[in-house]
Amino acid sequence: MKLICIGRNYADHIKELANERPKDPVVFIKPDSAILPKEQDFYIPEFSEEIHHEVEVLVKIKKVGKHIEEKFAPSYYDEIGLGIDFTARDLQSELKSKGLPWEKAKGFDGSAVIGKWVDKSKFNDLNDLDFSLSKNDEVVQQGNTNLMLWKIDGLIAYVSTFFTLKKGDILFTGTPAGVGKIVPNDYLAGKLQGHELFSVKIK
Ligand code: ZN
Repeated sequence: MKLICIGRNYADHIKELANERPKDPVVFIKPDSAILPKEQDFYIPEFSEEIHHEVEVLVKIKKVGKHIEEKFAPSYYDEIGLGIDFTARDLQSELKSKGLPWEKAKGFDGSAVIGKWVDKSKFNDLNDLDFSLSKNDEVVQQGNTNLMLWKIDGLIAYVSTFFTLKKGDILFTGTPAGVGKIVPNDYLAGKLQGHELFSVKIK
């Protein structure tokens, strides 16, 4: 399976990193080896001095599809989740400045935290979901899916023109503002519509 991730999908986050607002969604992939095993602590890798948290709403793909029309996208997922796209910002900045791919900064082991899944029928409107990340019990990132530049169904349509989506693939839909550095002994927890879906200790 693969993790398909969207960058620059919230205007406030584009601003905080002084990035350009993209014409099309920014897409990258993490390998399945990036998934942090459940209940495991996150160890800061030795190749980075600046690992950032990025909390993101997740969508689990339930069947194979290619060239999915936006109006049919809802039939390709039932479960919504929340996770973290850990990013080695120092390495990413270096790669970006050289015009090189981001994989080392985004796809390293443990860089994908995946929380509990919730059936989408539990929500009234997927384009109005509040979510947040707290660090040591203080809220550091807060967002709502209504602030996405590209919404879930549009993203599925877009990414499926390039990649065949398969059962079990996970879409990371981008992060709102408030990304920041983590250090050993930090404790992160993510909430979707007020319910905690994951927590992770930093080592
Ligand atoms: Zn991200």
